[in-house]
Amino acid sequence: MNHIQNNSWIEVSIDSDFPLQNIPFGVFRHPVEKDGRCATRIGDTVIDLSQLASLGYFDAFEMDLSVFFENHLNPFIELGKEVTTKVRLFLIDFFGVQNIPDQDERKMIESSFFDAKSIEMMMPIRVGDYTDFYSSIDHATNVGIMFRDPENALFPNWKHLPVGYHGRSSSIVVSGTKIHRPKGQILPQGSTTPIFSPSRTMDFELEMAFIIGKESDLGSSISTSEADEYIFGMLAFNDLSARDIQKWEYVPLGPFLGKNFGSVVSPWIVTLEALEPFRVKGSNQEPQVLPYLQFTGMKNYDIHLDVILETQDGVETVISKSNHKYLYWNMCQQLAHHTINGCNVRVGDLYASGTISGPTDESYGSLLELSWGGTKTIQLKDGTERKFLNDFDQINIHAYCKMENLRIGFGECRTQLLPAKI
Ligand code: MN
Repeated sequence: MNHIQNNSWIEVSIDSDFPLQNIPFGVFRHPVEKDGRCATRIGDTVIDLSQLASLGYFDAFEMDLSVFFENHLNPFIELGKEVTTKVRLFLIDFFGVQNIPDQDERKMIESSFFDAKSIEMMMPIRVGDYTDFYSSIDHATNVGIMFRDPENALFPNWKHLPVGYHGRSSSIVVSGTKIHRPKGQILPQGSTTPIFSPSRTMDFELEMAFIIGKESDLGSSISTSEADEYIFGMLAFNDLSARDIQKWEYVPLGPFLGKNFGSVVSPWIVTLEALEPFRVKGSNQEPQVLPYLQFTGMKNYDIHLDVILETQDGVETVISKSNHKYLYWNMCQQLAHHTINGCNVRVGDLYASGTISGPTDESYGSLLELSWGGTKTIQLKDGTERKFLNDFDQINIHAYCKMENLRIGFGECRTQLLPAKI
């Protein structure tokens, strides 16, 4: 395969997440307007698809053009991959070097261009249901060693099904949104009665998420071979977690208020089609899984995942380097398992991977693991140390794929932790 880094007539820097081969979808807001418009991005140029539609460039598609004037991508995605893939391929051709417009036309097209720094990205979808899996074997093992039994770190079910829980969608927010340190019940060490307090052990969770692009019927199941048709694309995902609140509340029904006060997504949905060159084989699954979880082909993705902690003074430290390919359970298995009982999925549903840790300690996807339950310190470049997040710390998850001549990335997935509200 011969991939060329940039063959667009729009300028793209060599280290950009958004070459012509990406064409992700998002929603942005003009600084002077209240409502959003659907967009794509090439290099640092955000391209207003509603303006391209107004100029007549999508007239041949016989599609409902009002979808580009919406505050979220759900109506566009609902048109189905037959339409959305055609739109994406059209944009790749339209902005390709083989189609350099003349000066007059270029001026017209450029009325849809915005510098990425001059606009505000909005939440790209109205999230329906949100499920969080627990699909990294290294993460599940680390947590099992810390909190249960090093000899039996994984629960007996773990290698037989992708464990998950139903989360909350109202507090899923777009990159750049600041989150207040949550308050709640925590159990001080050595005590048997809880106190009410701001969380003292605030953590991030390095995750990726996928967005459903096609609904299924109640009572039916999606097979592993059909699953790709139901996945529109992916996002970077930071599932902020208050470990002390979580620890006290989670038995017997699982995570609740320690998890649902804020999760952050990157603003651009990168399509599965753009990620196609980066498919890789996952880890061997032993023991063999039940037939409905078996699959053929390569279902993991080689997506580099960097976690950057930025202190209040603006000093950045990369505190983790992991990869999406470390997931034991792939997205197709997650979707097959989620629907095997007849549970239906809807456009805009969001499925997160669970913390993605790698096998080495610099690839752990949470502070819980990096500080090994608060027993180790993490050194930052400004000379300070962390076990968990301080007020005003920022976490940015940067997800990107790279091969010799191609780089496809997700942009920023950033949030700042503010002090607890008094
Ligand atoms: Mn999580």
